[in-house]
Parts: sequence; structure tokens; C-alpha cells
Amino acid sequence: MQNKINLLNLNQKALDQFFNELGEKSFRTKQLMKWIYKDHVFDFDQMLNLSKKLREKLNEIACIEFPEVVSKNHALDGVIKWVIKTGGENHIEMVYIPEKERGTLCISSQVGCALACTFCSTGYQGFNRNLSTAEMIAQVLIANLHLNPVGKRISNVVFMGMGEPMLNEEAVYSTCDLLLDDLSFGLSRRRVTISSSGVVPALERMSERVPVSLAISLHAPNDALRDELVPINKKYPIEALMKACDVYLNAGTQERHILFEYVMLKGVNDSSEHAQQLAKLLKGVSAKVNLIPFNPFPQSDYQTSSVRAIDNFQDILSSKGIRTMTRRTRGEDVDAACGQLAGKVQDKTKRSDARRN
Ligand code: SAH
Ligand code: SF4
Repeated sequence: MQNKINLLNLNQKALDQFFNELGEKSFRTKQLMKWIYKDHVFDFDQMLNLSKKLREKLNEIACIEFPEVVSKNHALDGVIKWVIKTGGENHIEMVYIPEKERGTLCISSQVGCALACTFCSTGYQGFNRNLSTAEMIAQVLIANLHLNPVGKRISNVVFMGMGEPMLNEEAVYSTCDLLLDDLSFGLSRRRVTISSSGVVPALERMSERVPVSLAISLHAPNDALRDELVPINKKYPIEALMKACDVYLNAGTQERHILFEYVMLKGVNDSSEHAQQLAKLLKGVSAKVNLIPFNPFPQSDYQTSSVRAIDNFQDILSSKGIRTMTRRTRGEDVDAACGQLAGKVQDKTKRSDARRN
């Protein structure tokens, strides 16, 4: 039997093509997207405005399939973490972070990550595979199915869970299309954020392809230190990364800025000199800086910077006119904080073995 096509993989354009190939008009796309994304109906037989013949055809060749939720944990501060099974022994994680004015869903883009940043739990686990658009969109649908009945909603989606989204470009772009599309989630472009550790050629393509917000995981103001913390810097050093940022900032018609993420590691990257260097690097760039207190995980020796060091770092940047915030740690009692998402990864890169030796 041929494999059925999972319709959660298809953005509006791909659905139009799908229905066109079945000899159906494109208004079918609208009808189907309303059933799935607005009414949360996933059984073709209940989609009563589709003809009986079409429903039969869909049952034969298509499906709407979700990965299985393994567990759902509530932290004391309202954060929710889901663990989702993605085949074999692989599990990914996603996190909902409620705030006064918004609810942010942090989704995963890969099972693990091959980039091996030294302070990141996901990187420590190695890499298994990319997630499909369906597996990313399903994370948002699953969260909505839990949250909507209790009056909560997702106002923002960030690709800051497990994985490097810019190493899974096409599936991430289609996911963004669906997040922005009024027929599905209808989020504004400012409320969808791709976070990347700096895959330069992909960032240049992304700048033209999807108009979403961009966060760059910088973590160090010079190449020597960044080579050590974010190994992909050896391939794409800071100068090349800043050029890609420039491409992003100058693309599109609306004003853009970039959020630079900087994890605060005690005695490693948190001195006054580092702050001065960072201010110099970001001078004239339309930037905001987000300082992230390091969240520990078992295999790591790093420590979180002191509150004093973080305040000092923030003060130096602010005094140089750089908008800077410190991210409040959330959900740590269920291991849901930034960098703590580990899931369960059948590592194909052998990185996890290499590190243990
Ligand atoms: N791969 C992407 C997106 C996922 S990581 C990226 O690196 O941007 C999301 C954010 O969490 C990144 O800024 C990452 O550097 C940060 N992070 C990773 N490990 C962390 C830790 N242990 N403590 C705090 N932040 C961490
Ligand atoms: Fe991968 Fe991002 Fe973790 Fe680096 S910080 S290992 S790029 S998930």
C-alpha cells in the first residue's frame, strides 16, 4: 500500500496543488484548513461540506496524523512542558510559557542537534533527524487542544526548543507559512521567531523567504571565545554572521530588528570587557540583547553568572545605547528552561559517545 500523505505537511500553496491534482477547485483548501486549524476536526468523514466522493478519496490517500504525547508536566510558575514521541526511542519536547500579556509556545525543529554548543543540553545529546512540517505544526495543534478549553491561547511561537531550525530550512519555512496564514494560525510576523546559532547561508535565504522575527544565539563577542562555545562559528565566524544579519535587516519592506541571545556563563563570557566588546560589535545594528542566565543540566560544568555580573553586563550595554533585557528563568522545576530540553535522542552523530570518552 502506498504511504498516505499527511496533510499537516502542506501549506496553503501545497494544498492548492494537492487538490488541483485531484481535479478539485482551490476553495477545497479553505474548507479543509478551516476544519483542521479552526474547528480542530481531523476526521475526513466529519468534514461535511466536502463531497462524499472527495471524503472517500481523502481517506484512501491522505491522513491527518499527530505524534503521540508521552507526558505533560506543569511547573509551579504555569509553564507546561510536553514530551512527544517521534518514532523509535526518540522524544522531543515543547514548552508553553504564559505571561501577563501573552502565551509563548517554544517548539522543537529537530530530534537533537548536531551543532554541539558546549552549554546546551540538546547539543550534548547529539542528533537523530529533522522534524517534518507536520511534526512542528502538530506541536502547536497539540498545545492548542490542551490550552483552548481552559481559556488559554498561544500568541507567540518561537523555534527555540530542540534543534537548529536553519538546518531544517524547507520544513521550517512551510511551518512558518502555516503559522502566519490567516486560514490556519494567523499570527503576525512579529510573533513568530526563528532562533539560530548562525548558519550563514541559510540565514541569507531565510531573510527573503519568510518575514518572521529573527533571534541570533551569539553568546560571545569575539571569534576565539565563540569558536569554543558555539562551534559552528569556526565555519561561519562573527564577521560573516554580522553580514548575514545585515541582509536580514535590509530585506522586506517593514522595519526589522534582531534579538541577540547571550547566555551568561560565570567567568567565561560575563566580564566588563566582554560587555564592552559586545557593545562595539552591535554598534549601529538594529538590535536588542537578551541576556539568558545559564540553566544548568547534569553533564555540564558551567555555572550561572552572579546577579551582580549580569546587572553589570546589562548596565554597560544599556549605557552604550543597546536595548538589553535579562530573561527570567521559567519552568526549571520541570526542566523546561532554555537549554534544558533534552528529550531522548538516538544519536546518529556519535557525538554523545565522543563526549563521554
Ligand atoms: N538552535 C537554536 C535554537 C534552540 S536553542 C539556537 O541555538 O538559537 C534556544 C536558546 O537557548 C539559544 O539561544 C540557546 O543558546 C539557549 N541555550 C542553550 N542552552 C542553554 C542553557 N543551558 N542555558 C540557557 N540558555 C541556553
Ligand atoms: Fe543546537 Fe541551539 Fe543547542 Fe547550539 S544552542 S546545540 S545550535 S540547540
